[in-house]
Amino acid sequence: MVARAWRLFSDEIDRSRDSGCDVKFWWRDDDACRPDPALARLYALAGETGVPLALACIPAAAEPAAFDALPPSIVVIPHGVDHRNRASAGEKKTEFPERESVEAALGRLAAGRVRLEGIVGRRLLAVLAPPWNRIGPALVARLSEAGFCGVSTFGARKVESPAPGLRQVNTHVDIIQWKGGRGFVGAETALAMATRHLVAKRTGAADPLEPTGWLTHHAVHDEGAWSFLARLFEVTHCASGASWQRPLDVFRTPG
Ligand SMILES: [Zn+2]
Repeated sequence: MVARAWRLFSDEIDRSRDSGCDVKFWWRDDDACRPDPALARLYALAGETGVPLALACIPAAAEPAAFDALPPSIVVIPHGVDHRNRASAGEKKTEFPERESVEAALGRLAAGRVRLEGIVGRRLLAVLAPPWNRIGPALVARLSEAGFCGVSTFGARKVESPAPGLRQVNTHVDIIQWKGGRGFVGAETALAMATRHLVAKRTGAADPLEPTGWLTHHAVHDEGAWSFLARLFEVTHCASGASWQRPLDVFRTPG
């Protein structure tokens, strides 16, 4: 069954290419803040494969030592500000609840971005990946006031530019099974998610210009997750018509 999932995925890459839409992927990994063996393994994978990565770091918790060995293919993006759940009772987990004023959230976001930039310097890309992929439209509309040029959540985007000067590029494949153990979701499920997004783009059900985003969480990867990523990079590297985009290009502000 796993072999079939790989075949369907590869077939869809071919079909997309043949119908004139080359397959573009991008990679985001969440929850970095301190040096640890899982982060070192992520750096090794990114470094060895050369696949560009947007590393979403929690600004308030970021330790400078985490970025000492940052490979050249990685850029850092802010993952909220402190990753604290501020949801009211009954609201889904979010760092940016409706009851927090937009001004207060923008103030926190700008301070977090500046702190992270102070640590990683020019390796920072001002794209917000909100924790739990949740952020309200009123805050998105004003993100550029806090110095952001992009935003990234989960699921096919509705629009490319939700506000002037702001580009949205989401992730579409989450390789972690959050309910029930936090392990790898399995190759079949991950590949089916990716294939679904590619089909949706090819058939016009989703924005064909949005690169398909792979979301990983190095801290909770089991061996299955690590070996899947290695295979994914190998397979896509050899697939004609498929490429991994640099976050800098993915979030180039629309002209
Ligand atoms: Zn997170």
